[in-house]
Amino acid sequence: MNTCVEQANAKINLFLDVIGRRADGYHLIDGVMQTVTLADRVSVGFEPAEKIGITLTARGNDAMPTDMNNLACRAAKRYLEAANIGGSVSIGIEKNIPMAAGLAGGSADAAAVLRALDRLSGARLGTDALCRLGATLGADVPFCVRGGAMRTEGIGDRLTPCAGLSGCFLVVACAGNGVSTPWAYAEIDARSGGLFPASETAGKVEKLIHALQIRNWENACAGMENIFESVVPSVNPFVNRIKTILRGAGAAHAMMSGSGPSVFGVFFREADARSACETLAAAGIGGRLCQPVL
Ligand code: ATP
Repeated sequence: MNTCVEQANAKINLFLDVIGRRADGYHLIDGVMQTVTLADRVSVGFEPAEKIGITLTARGNDAMPTDMNNLACRAAKRYLEAANIGGSVSIGIEKNIPMAAGLAGGSADAAAVLRALDRLSGARLGTDALCRLGATLGADVPFCVRGGAMRTEGIGDRLTPCAGLSGCFLVVACAGNGVSTPWAYAEIDARSGGLFPASETAGKVEKLIHALQIRNWENACAGMENIFESVVPSVNPFVNRIKTILRGAGAAHAMMSGSGPSVFGVFFREADARSACETLAAAGIGGRLCQPVL
């Protein structure tokens, strides 16, 4: 069996707004996503076979499904079907990314499996095809296939590389109940009354990307926003508590990622980021120190 190991990096949203809804129910977004070094470790083994067989073993989080409900298993099946080949795939996931936290952990694992199988199987579908396949698994999968910093539009499938955060430290923390992404979108729908200010949002996103490009971190931090902060803190009191702790420890900015409830703080001094992790730990909250990836 040929094997390889892929890092499945989490993402954070530096900007996220919902700007519409398609007739099929999918939401249209505009924003900026960035990969961070917080990652699951995904090992993949592949052996050609007549039929498709997929197994998964997991470490680190007992709540993660280990059957075909796991997005990584679904990605393997989808890959083999698209490549029109059979094979035994054995996946091992060391889960470090908090689940249902707005960090795209499942999508990252799925993307890692797609990349690994494209290397191991010899089918060589290529990155563009992996992104198209990924889009059928989940809106964040195409981003996770590529990684880096991207403006994300459409249903999350229109990706344009852009400047991102660099030279800083991030503390990602999560506590309390996870948030169901469909619930969070339904809340946004209920509040927007169908009116989404798309052009205003585009202007804000462009301004943020410009600030990131010229490394004006003060303006970049001031321009970071997440529409889901208008709904999630009401059901997860830890969001505001974590933000207060991160700011108190010297974060230049603290905000929720995706549909939450994870929160990240941006630090320009490593010592501040480390002390934020200690303060969080003293409050019984796990904080992970990581860095942005470009
Ligand atoms: P998104 O914002 O894309 O919805 P998320 O980071 O909020 O993602 P995930 O960690 O991807 O959420 O998990 C959402 C749900 O998906 C989990 O509750 C879990 O049951 C299911 N799931 C399936 N496969 C995985 C996986 N490999 N890792 C984590 N969760 C998975």
